[in-house]
Amino acid sequence: MSSDIYVGVTQTLESITNACRRAGRNSSDIRLMAVSKTHPAEAMVEALRAGLTLFGENRVQEYERKSRELDGVELPGAPEVHLIGHLQSNKAARAVQLFQSIDTLDSLRLAKRINEAAAKAGRVMPVLLEVKLSSEESKSGLSPEGEETERLLEALPGLANLKVNGLMTVAPLDDDPEVARACFRRLRQLRDAWAAKHQRLDLHELSMGMSGDYEIAIEEGSTMIRLGTAIFGARETPV
Ligand SMILES: *Cc1c(COP(=O)(O)O)cnc(C)c1O
Repeated sequence: MSSDIYVGVTQTLESITNACRRAGRNSSDIRLMAVSKTHPAEAMVEALRAGLTLFGENRVQEYERKSRELDGVELPGAPEVHLIGHLQSNKAARAVQLFQSIDTLDSLRLAKRINEAAAKAGRVMPVLLEVKLSSEESKSGLSPEGEETERLLEALPGLANLKVNGLMTVAPLDDDPEVARACFRRLRQLRDAWAAKHQRLDLHELSMGMSGDYEIAIEEGSTMIRLGTAIFGARETPV
């Protein structure tokens, strides 16, 4: 397994470099997040040894278990782990302790809970706002034009223990790559519009693009691509 992950990382870095060249972008402007959900803690260790430092996990409990396993392991450096799955308010405190960023903030209620938990923990919690740009029922995220979204954007500068860094989205599953492209373009346009309207918010980060569509996301301005399958291979349990 270890050599497979090394090969996955090497090949992925090469195709990111090529995609950046085609898009006229600098590859140092795009962070690669290794999505290690469903894979064992050893897979994270291998990816760290292959030089990756940023990870995405989608469940609080799953990463809680892995982080305990990682405790006793000698690592080349501390991983930066982001939560990329839906967070229930009652797990906000645990998430604040475990993760370096929560990339799925999708309600004002959750923002207040994370802010409170971060204040109690004496830290400022980095977050991304997850925007739902697909009609798939199973996906979560803020609606791009809801009243809730507007209230959240207005409240955020007043939540002193949250640090907003940008937006995140998951494109709809579709064989037509232009569907993903339209979604990524929309996220970038929303970011520009929200940044103009809410000047106290920093929205520089655009987390978009997965194994099947990251080259398009790079063309559309992504600053963070989230790759699971491309690095670790297929997941046994689809999540
Ligand atoms: C699983 C997951 C990914 C990675 O998906 P791949 O297609 O395996 O690259 C990226 N983002 C989120 C939010 C995920 O849940």
